This record gives sequence, C-alpha cells and structure tokens, in this order.
Amino acid sequence: MTRICTLAAFLLLAALAGSPARAETPAPAAVLIENVRIFDGKGDKLSAPSYVLVVGNTIKSISTSPIAPPAGAAPARIAGGGRTLMPGLIDNHVHVVMTASTQAQMSDPKATFAAIEARGAEEAKQMLLRGFTTVRDLGGPTFGIKRAIDSGKAIGPRIYPSGAMVSQTSGHGDTRLPTERSRRFFGKPSNGEEMGFNFIADGRDEVLTAARENLRFGATQIKVMAGGGAASAYDPLDVTQYTLDEMKAAVEAAEDWNTYVTVHAYTVRAVQRAIAAGVKVIEHGQLLDETTIRLMGEKGVFLSLQALDPAPPTAPETTRQKKAQVIEGTDNAFNWAKKHKVKLLWGTDFLFVPEQNRNQNKDILKLKRWFTPAEALKLVTHDNAQVFALSGPRNPYPGKLGVVEEGAYADLILVDGDPIANLDLVADPAKNFVVIMKDGKVHKNTLRP
Ligand SMILES: [Zn+2]
Repeated sequence: MTRICTLAAFLLLAALAGSPARAETPAPAAVLIENVRIFDGKGDKLSAPSYVLVVGNTIKSISTSPIAPPAGAAPARIAGGGRTLMPGLIDNHVHVVMTASTQAQMSDPKATFAAIEARGAEEAKQMLLRGFTTVRDLGGPTFGIKRAIDSGKAIGPRIYPSGAMVSQTSGHGDTRLPTERSRRFFGKPSNGEEMGFNFIADGRDEVLTAARENLRFGATQIKVMAGGGAASAYDPLDVTQYTLDEMKAAVEAAEDWNTYVTVHAYTVRAVQRAIAAGVKVIEHGQLLDETTIRLMGEKGVFLSLQALDPAPPTAPETTRQKKAQVIEGTDNAFNWAKKHKVKLLWGTDFLFVPEQNRNQNKDILKLKRWFTPAEALKLVTHDNAQVFALSGPRNPYPGKLGVVEEGAYADLILVDGDPIANLDLVADPAKNFVVIMKDGKVHKNTLRP
C-alpha cells in the first residue's frame, strides 16, 4: 500500500515538474472598465454609468464614481463609452465534441479520436468568441478539452463535463449501428463507447460502474438517458428507459460523490420515474403535462429546456415526425414552467450539424416568445448559473457565475448597444460584442486602437 502511494506521489511530482510554464504573457493583474451601463444578470434595467475594476479573475469593485486602482497596480483600461456590460452567456446543454462533427465524420472507420477532438476544441474556442463563457456539456469525451482550457493551453469556455452518456441497451445513447450486436451477446464494445461518447450499461452493477467511471475522470454531473429521443433513429419517443432501481443506482453513485444526475427525457412516465429516483435536473421535457411540471416546481427539480429547430428535410421521416412532436410541446412546457415557478435552464443542444453552431446566439431570440428581453437575458446568465451549485465539491468553478457583481468571476461581455431594449444585438456577437472577458482575461477587444 505504502509503495503504491509513494509511486503515485512520485508520478504526480514528475507530472508537475514536467508541466510547462503557465502562459508566455501573464494576464494583466487588473483591468479597469470605465463608463459602462451594467445589466447585472438579474434586474430588468441597466445601471447608471459605472466603473468596474477586475483584479485577477474576479470583479473587485463596481461604482458609479471613478475607482482608484489598487496601490502599485497599473490596470489595463477599457473605455466603455456608455456601452452595456453584461455577464458572459451560459449554454446549459451543449455537446462540445459532437456538435463539431457530422455523424458521417464520427462513424467513419478511418476517423481518429485526435481529429474528432481537435474539431471539438476549435468549436469550444468559437463558443467563447460568441460570448459563451460557460457551458454544461451533456455528453461526450470533453475532459481533455476542458483540461486544456483550464490550464491555459487552449481557449474556450468554462466546461461542466458529464463524460460518457449512460444509456441502457436500446436506449437513446445506444449509438451502435443497426446491425451491431451487444458486447454481452456475441458483439464487441462499440466505437462510441471506446471513444468515450457513451456507456451502454444495463443493471445496477453496470450503471454504478459507468457513473463512477465518469466521476473518476472529472464529471461534474452524470447524464443518464431516461427515455426515447428525437435525434436517434432507433428509440421511439414514447419509451421509458432504465428501471427505477437502475436509475436509483446512478443517483446513489452521483450522490456519494456529492453531485447529481440529470436525465434526457421528454415524457410524463420517464420524468415521473426519474424524479422518484432522485434525479435533480430534467433535460428537455417538452412532452410533459401540467401535473408533472407542477410537481417539478414543488420538488425544486430543474427543467433544462430548449426551443429546438425542426429536423432538416434530409433527415429520415421518423426523425422529422418525432422532432415535430417535441417542438409542438415546447410552448406548453415553457408556459407551465413559468406558471409553476419551475427552476428553468436554457440550452441549445446542437448536434452533428457543425454549420448550425453559428446560430448559438440566434437561438436566444426564440425566447422572445415567452420572455421579455430582460427575462431572456436573466435566463441565459443568472438563472442558468443556478444549476452549478448542485455539483457541490465537484464544481470546478465554485465562485459566482452569471452575474455582474462584486466578488463574482470576471466573465463579462461589453455590448455595443442596449440588449434590454434590443435583444437582437446578442444574435450577432462578431459585430456587437466588442469585448469578451473570461476569468479576468480579455479574449476579444475590438476597442483597442
Ligand atoms: Zn443533448
């Protein structure tokens, strides 16, 4: 035992010694942002013209009068010119790796994991440059990209990774080809499983192993498939996935690591069972009835909703029908969630259509159907950040996110205009987001001379 520990310590020290210096040019210790009107992530109007001092990765002070920089510091200055300073955007349902490749690229037998991961890393960078400073990844091999970003070797948002999606055989995360057989019955482990996209896990034992394996690699929450899906060809929407006991096994594994399970589910039966098992977040839920949504409100279960696009005309007829059914339910889901004060989250859930990613910001505009611009912005900043506390000690970014207030992480966007008066501004980040800061570091600044 002692020998093993010594060996582990040695390997750790060797790894630390071998790690390169953090960054060639250290970020400025302080940034003073002058003359901005603030949308703080919670309110429904902008502040009076204000000054914001960022020190390190944190908002140190906010004032309507000029702020004296800390003694000895020569802060970089950003002249806000009366523009709007707001929190970085949060997308609560992404698949960093799967959104960057087509299904054909992923199932190509010649595809290497390195190539698939590299496309994911590039997409992560683009997400940040669209103003998304934090994303929750709901499945896929994202751990490496997250580590590279956090260590400064790559550029991208803060990522809350789930790791491999946990699915039953025949479930929404069973990504085998139609003719492929189960590894338990004459088949071999599937490509998706080997690359870390999914675990096909049946029974309490396998579900426990799958959840624990993800936790071991750094999952901040466990993603389980609890019912049929619209994007997949082989599981009808109406099916319920995982027995109560299997679902409880996932919840037990997550809770023993002081974090939570979130499930993919649309229907009443799937969601009711998940809630009974102790699941804390429901992804989707567009086919729920009012009773179930009210129950979620009473129990404090989060609803992570998306306003999805119709399937492309090239998709199979069954997929298009399923997608249409889900879209039809979206209106009720948003309205009942508002009525019963369900903790709402918003995300895009783009998959396998790389050119769709440039619509990540435009997707926010769909919220105008149910919310005022201020409410929509609150949802994609402050409200979206509320789920991260559920990760407890597994939360890699335990400071405040989604708000502009003293002590919060300095994840900020400077918008050329007033997004509360004109929400459309957030749909064109290349033009309208003139400064993007994450963790106190400026990643975009078009105001520089
Ligand atoms: Zn998804």
